[in-house]
Amino acid sequence: MSTLRDKRLFLFDMDGTLYLEDTLFDGTLELLHRIREKGGTYLFLTNNSSKGVDAYVEKLTRLGIPCEAADFLTSTDATVAYVREHAPSKRFYCVGTRSFVQQLRSCGLSVTDDVTDDAVDGVILSNDTELTFAKLSHASRLLTCADRLYLATNPDWVCPTSFGSVPDCGSFAQMLEHATGKRPYVIGKPRPDMLQLAMRRCGCTAEETLMVGDRLYTDIAAGVNAGVDTVFVLSGEGTRAMLASSDVTPTYVMEDVRELCRRIG
Ligand SMILES: [Mg+2]
Repeated sequence: MSTLRDKRLFLFDMDGTLYLEDTLFDGTLELLHRIREKGGTYLFLTNNSSKGVDAYVEKLTRLGIPCEAADFLTSTDATVAYVREHAPSKRFYCVGTRSFVQQLRSCGLSVTDDVTDDAVDGVILSNDTELTFAKLSHASRLLTCADRLYLATNPDWVCPTSFGSVPDCGSFAQMLEHATGKRPYVIGKPRPDMLQLAMRRCGCTAEETLMVGDRLYTDIAAGVNAGVDTVFVLSGEGTRAMLASSDVTPTYVMEDVRELCRRIG
């Protein structure tokens, strides 16, 4: 069995784990520095498919975390990898932001966001912050009229904002399920796809990998599903009380990244 000191690849959830909104946690910079010093590597993982990686590079840089685009993995990246592997020649209608559609196109996927276009093999649903009724209506028609491949980038019900929450991809999927009876194959955390992609990209085994996050039902569940050790940090939305009522069990429970920094040696 490998210990924390043996880990080479560290996968981090961001909000609630490394910072909270616009406040960087004590210990984040030290931990990231220590990982590289030990010859390890890390990636920042997010289920958010509404914006490109550039927005995250800008945010983390503003918080004082040195980073570049290659340090991030999003549910969009995992969606691209899934389509390339399972449906490389298929054409999709996308319910997504212009940025999302552009990212898929730039990766060579055949996608359209034209609500009059029926010539598609499948539908990809994402965290569409530019959602319209015309898009919902078209997606409903496509899913009802034929048995099409149906993917969703992430299962999150809501996305946090300064005033509370707004609906996210999981809620959109629920609306479409009410209308069509169809459920998507969901790609982001808690599915293992993003973590498996991270391990492939970095050439690391599950044994060498550690997933760190503040949500049991996404971050920690994704780690469990990918067969990697997990650290549940109590610096975000997760609490010890949640552990008692959850069937998801992290390998380690820690107060915050400062504690993790001490324990990786
Ligand atoms: Mg989080």
